[in-house]
Amino acid sequence: MSLAIETNVPLAPLTTFELGGAAESFVAVRSEAECLEALAHAEARGLPVTVLGGGSNVVVPDEGVRGLVLAIRSRGLHLEEVGGASVRLRASAGEPWEDVVEAAVSRDLAGLECLTGIPGLAGATPIQNVGAYGQEVGDRLVSVEAYDRETRRVITLDRDACELGYRQSRLKREAGRYVVLAVTFELTRGGAPSIRYRELAEACPEGASLADVRRTVFALRKKKSMVLDPADPNRRSAGSFFTNPVVDADTFARVVEVALTRGLVAREEDVPRYPAGDAVKLAAGWLIERAGIQKGMRRGPVGVSSAHALALVHHGGGTTGELLALAASIRAQVEAVFGVRLEAEPRLLGPDGAPALA
Ligand SMILES: Cc1cc2nc3c(=O)[nH]c(=O)nc-3n(C[C@H](O)[C@H](O)[C@H](O)COP(=O)(O)OP(=O)(O)OC[C@H]3O[C@@H](n4cnc5c(N)ncnc54)[C@H](O)[C@@H]3O)c2cc1C
Repeated sequence: MSLAIETNVPLAPLTTFELGGAAESFVAVRSEAECLEALAHAEARGLPVTVLGGGSNVVVPDEGVRGLVLAIRSRGLHLEEVGGASVRLRASAGEPWEDVVEAAVSRDLAGLECLTGIPGLAGATPIQNVGAYGQEVGDRLVSVEAYDRETRRVITLDRDACELGYRQSRLKREAGRYVVLAVTFELTRGGAPSIRYRELAEACPEGASLADVRRTVFALRKKKSMVLDPADPNRRSAGSFFTNPVVDADTFARVVEVALTRGLVAREEDVPRYPAGDAVKLAAGWLIERAGIQKGMRRGPVGVSSAHALALVHHGGGTTGELLALAASIRAQVEAVFGVRLEAEPRLLGPDGAPALA
């Protein structure tokens, strides 16, 4: 096998934000074997390695990325009956996520139907335990096959070893260590669709099938510019830019007090929140809007999506510096009003996989 390594490759077109500089060197790997070969090539030369999937949750620094950017393009879906109604679906890391959802729903396999419309590739889904409309990949994840760059071995991490949480995992915490080669899910043939969100329940037809739920979720997401659509003016984004903050009871009480004092809500119950164990998960989009930042606001070539306060968008001709300055000012405004610090969801593309906002 010979790897087609290129130098000085612009990364903006490979990401949904369409921002940032070039990769010092770049290789697209089309199989798991090629991926391992590229990793061995980088190790032999002491090159820093950065993994790129579909580029839908990353921010590329304006100065570009040093070392080797490894774009995962390996394809392959494999189904295995495991007894009863259970079916295992193994997806190579470069498989487009929507194809994985399609493979499940079209075979009447329940478990991924609410995760339609999420851009990117299968290999990235366990990294932040991708989720939407009450479903998370972690609900169905069996294992992750990965190359461990520390021990230089291909390993299999079972679900527990992935230490999944809300937009969190060991793979994300130990960024740069694991290169995901494939993911395996266990799905239920003929299983009932998951309809946990009121918004989804209200929009679904009576007795909805898996395909109905998938179609409905997709339509709901489209209205919020949460699917990739070349005709959508909000299309250059990474989806939600901030995660929903999980806060303790004292912080939640302070948020409620601010909201009541400022007349933002009439009653405590009107402050949106979701249960999160002993803690409370707040709605970051609500905090942003109530802190006075409107949907559709613009600061030059960047702004807030006109469809969703949680998504920052690039309108073209901007820089990553401008995007991150806007993100930092939104975070500062929310913190000044509510005393809650928002965390960025996308990662800064680079060997360390750091959060987009430190
Ligand atoms: C319009 C829009 C809507 C979105 N909606 C949602 C949503 O509803 N829920 C949600 O959870 N996310 C959502 N996202 C975020 C994003 O789509 C997901 O996080 C997705 O899983 C990222 O996949 P990717 O292949 O594009 O990863 P990339 O953006 O390429 O990479 C993300 C991070 O994962 C690392 N990585 C990628 N692949 C691998 C691999 N094989 N091995 C090791 N590391 C890897 C990268 O180095 C990087 O740090 C949305 C994004 C957009 C643009």
